[in-house]
Amino acid sequence: MADDLLTAPRNGATDETDTPKGRVEIDDVVIRFKGRHGPVTALSRTSHVLEPGTFTALIGPSGCGKSTLMNAIAGFVTPSEGSLRLDGRPIAGPSPEVGVIFQQYALFPWFTALDNVRYGLKQFGLPRREEIDRARAALAEVGLEAHADKYPQQLSGGMKQRVAIARTFAVGPKVLLLDEPFGALDAQTRLVMHELLLNIWRKHRATVLFVTHDVDEALLLSDHVQVMSQAPGRLIRHYHLTQQRPRAFSRSGSDLLEIRDEILELLHPKTDLADSL
Ligand code: ADP
Ligand code: MG
Repeated sequence: MADDLLTAPRNGATDETDTPKGRVEIDDVVIRFKGRHGPVTALSRTSHVLEPGTFTALIGPSGCGKSTLMNAIAGFVTPSEGSLRLDGRPIAGPSPEVGVIFQQYALFPWFTALDNVRYGLKQFGLPRREEIDRARAALAEVGLEAHADKYPQQLSGGMKQRVAIARTFAVGPKVLLLDEPFGALDAQTRLVMHELLLNIWRKHRATVLFVTHDVDEALLLSDHVQVMSQAPGRLIRHYHLTQQRPRAFSRSGSDLLEIRDEILELLHPKTDLADSL
């Protein structure tokens, strides 16, 4: 019996690569910028924890500080007050542990898809063969192995964003920050990208923070939805979503429709509408 136990294949869940990673602590963070007439608060005092491997959507009105919060987690912006930690260590600047994807694909036009992905790997100083293999594997994960030698201008918007996703995941980040990544894509392409992102997220078990102003997108993708107030933004409502994916608003027993109405009301209170008529 004991022998059987010893030789039994180990459950994949105990494998270290399967362990979710990337706990982000946002602790009393305030961010101010220098404005023409003195300091401008871009983010009101905010505390929150992104648990390892979770998928959180951040939704709020334009200018409320979503990108500012994301840039702080990415290490591009230093908080005026408070602190940010990743797995217990202070975030002191950009690091390969935190990947960022923007709406504008941010690919180098003079590099092929493969070389764009390789660029992200340069920091590791891998042998050339290994760097190419890893970049090719990452492109295969987003279904672009046949387009490795194309330049960005030869690719559609969705394909360019796939290259950006491959470049980011090839590095093996613990945390992935996406700032309205699919905002420039048509509805059909967005759906394809949603499925692709969820598949890659499940496989890599990274912690995802996804900024969007599309309530439906937030509800279809996330474990957690954080709603931000008007500027200067703070987190005003949290929803923990446990509905199975793929999700649909029409599914009976799902309360996604009620949540959608609540969030829309929070973002655009009816009194505002009445005032403007
Ligand atoms: P969101 O992404 O929610 O639309 P942002 O985080 O981009 O909002 O901006 C929040 C506020 O901070 C806005 O008023 C914006 O003008 C201001 N802001 C953002 N970055 C800077 C900066 N580098 N310098 C000065 N003001 C900034
Ligand atoms: Mg923004």
